[in-house]
Amino acid sequence: MALTGIQILKMLPKKNCGECAIPTCLAFAMKVAAGQMEIDDCPYVSDEAKETIGEASAPPIRTIKIGAGDSSFTAGGETCLFRHEKRFENPTGIAVLVSTSMSDSDVDGRIDRFKTLRYERVGVFMKADLIAIQDADGDQASFTGLVQKVLDTAEDANLILMSDKTETLAEGTKLCGDRKPLLFGANQDNSDAMANLAKEQGCPLGLKGGTIDETIALSEKLIGAGIKDMVIDTGARTLRAALEDNIVARRAAINSKFKPLGFSTIMFPCEMTDDPLMEAMIASVLIAKYAGIVVLSDLQGDILFPLLLERLNIFTDPQRPMVVEEDIYPINGPDDNSPVMITCNFSLTYFIVSGEVEGSNVPSWLLIKDTEGLSVLTAWAAGKFGADLIAQFIKKSGIEDKIKHRELIIPGYLATIKGELEEELSDWTITIGPREAGHLPAFLKEWKPAA
Ligand code: SF4
Repeated sequence: MALTGIQILKMLPKKNCGECAIPTCLAFAMKVAAGQMEIDDCPYVSDEAKETIGEASAPPIRTIKIGAGDSSFTAGGETCLFRHEKRFENPTGIAVLVSTSMSDSDVDGRIDRFKTLRYERVGVFMKADLIAIQDADGDQASFTGLVQKVLDTAEDANLILMSDKTETLAEGTKLCGDRKPLLFGANQDNSDAMANLAKEQGCPLGLKGGTIDETIALSEKLIGAGIKDMVIDTGARTLRAALEDNIVARRAAINSKFKPLGFSTIMFPCEMTDDPLMEAMIASVLIAKYAGIVVLSDLQGDILFPLLLERLNIFTDPQRPMVVEEDIYPINGPDDNSPVMITCNFSLTYFIVSGEVEGSNVPSWLLIKDTEGLSVLTAWAAGKFGADLIAQFIKKSGIEDKIKHRELIIPGYLATIKGELEEELSDWTITIGPREAGHLPAFLKEWKPAA
């Protein structure tokens, strides 16, 4: 049963030292109880307390890792049914299937697209996460050859090894070393051997049920065999069944703390249709509703990019605006005669403004003021982007040491604070910039320091 903040507090050292980035132990205990922080964030908790609190405050969907190091993939850790209740924790993994039944060129193409279809959006790097390697015909040599090829050519891919044969998976796993793949294919017939292999290799196990009832029975059996890190396939191969199973599993895990379904699901849009666009539609529904991993038959930019963007939107913390650091950002190699602009630290604003400035090729200084992630007008209305605060920031930012002139360009939407800002910064000229970022290039090309 979940512990309350007060129960957790009793097990904390109560130093109130703030090393967990929270000023008091009480506040930290409340955050752990709410699932917003890990007990490991306090360096002074005893191992015994860690175990008790960690077990009691573990999320109802178990967190698992596939792979190792910085590029490893994390699934699960979810604590709510709806994003607005708190947030979704770990984005749905997007995997591409390669199979021993595919030609070399088909496999090479998929690996190549896995490596090249990568995007950056509002400072977030986005890409597919996993390659699922399927043993299609029971030929161990073909399977291990394919595993080796993926290992050699896609260094940052996290792997799903798929076979019903334990020996085949064992051989593939040996090749992976510390890249700890997901071993997929534990069923009613091979579950004992698969459980042993997963334990021996320290890898998470993928369970393959035919129906949700079979999945529950198999999950209970594997939990009994000591398997903790699992991913479940309920056997659904239609959109309707997959959606229903995902919802049933998530509700059972969150509302009823039903352990056999307290795992991320793996779903196979690649087996639900032959139409790539329909496959993308199915994947988009399953990303929105609870899939831990979706396996696609191929990656194409026009399909992958919208899915990545959908995923970014759904898994962004709604309680925490996306922000960039308060700082001075040099763009296009500015010098002491370059224009100086200021805007807020809402990520979207920063990336739109900096993109336009960069595109203008005009060397410029962009000052980003911390407005707690609010956009220009909202921040001004909330008292976080007023003349007094902007003036304080200008004085402490160090920009005066980088330029000879004293002219500050403010967003067009802040025209009303010009006079007030001139009073606060009496040795500066305040210029009202354009309202829209798209007009910045033309504005900057015409700009000359005020005489
Ligand atoms: S690091 Fe530990 S002891 Fe220090 S304030 Fe946080 S919870 Fe308390």
